[in-house]
Amino acid sequence: MDRRNFLKGASMLSLGALAACNNEKAAAPAVNVEVNNPDKYFGLQIYTLGNELYAGNLSDNLKKLRNMGIKYIELAGYDVNTNTVGGVDFTEFKKQANDAGLEIPSSHVNAPGLFSGVAGRESRDGSDGQFNRSMINKVADSFKKVAEDHAKQGIQYVVHPMMAYLNNEDDVKAFAEMLNKSGEIFKAAGIQFGYHHHNMEFARMVKGVAGFRLPTVLTPLTAADGPMIMDMLMDNTDPANVCYEMDTYWTVMGQQDPVVWLKNRASRIKLMHVKDFVVLGASGAMNFKNIFEQFYANGNKYLFVEIEDIDSGKQMARVEESMKFINSQPYVK
Ligand code: MG
Repeated sequence: MDRRNFLKGASMLSLGALAACNNEKAAAPAVNVEVNNPDKYFGLQIYTLGNELYAGNLSDNLKKLRNMGIKYIELAGYDVNTNTVGGVDFTEFKKQANDAGLEIPSSHVNAPGLFSGVAGRESRDGSDGQFNRSMINKVADSFKKVAEDHAKQGIQYVVHPMMAYLNNEDDVKAFAEMLNKSGEIFKAAGIQFGYHHHNMEFARMVKGVAGFRLPTVLTPLTAADGPMIMDMLMDNTDPANVCYEMDTYWTVMGQQDPVVWLKNRASRIKLMHVKDFVVLGASGAMNFKNIFEQFYANGNKYLFVEIEDIDSGKQMARVEESMKFINSQPYVK
């Protein structure tokens, strides 16, 4: 299965499968929520907004986010060649965010040379994201300039947002080694390196079969089918070098329960993308109460709203609706 077909298949998993993955019945979707606690500490992954963030005046748009109750943002769109974010000088971007009252604890950056493009879904070198052992050092080294630029801005976390295409168990181990070596480079710069998953990391590498297989509600896989990529990545990276950013939506799309992962890998998962089908809370399929409570219990604080469909033209409105939901939930701190 190639990456494109894989992603297409992933997007066609059923809502039934999603609901089945939650431990307990999810809370009813919020209707006509009112903001009753504007002081909650919550963030946004700016990938969500696509070009809407830059339409008109960036500074005004950042202030709009702050007025919705967002306190911090995770960057996307940093360019290593120009030291810019969304085409805006990094220092200037940070100043405008801080002036709007927004902190920047984290930034998504694909390994330069391995991926490029929004969300890193197309490879720069024409290899369709293929990764192998010969690329470990080159890719890890390419992060040195990234680490330097982010250290200058005081960013705490740099997160690699996307898996390369991995054909076999050795590819997975090599990818883990690349993450580990990259983490060492960031650690030396005073930054915690992280990895953000999608659903394919919950696939299993089946012995004797090239590529990986993702479980579906009709074709579940077990440990007997082969090791899960996510387990291999976590087990083959040093906790001091690599933490993990959970994405609630992609976890569930991988037929997994976020709460179980938060409990079993409490020391590894430090950040979270809070994602539903579109507006947070609207599907009723995500048990955010249980997820957040476990996330907080683990001692974590950074939660980022994320919404796909970034070219919809409705993203700012969707973020606003999502923040109304977040601000109305008593379990959000
Ligand atoms: Mg995400």
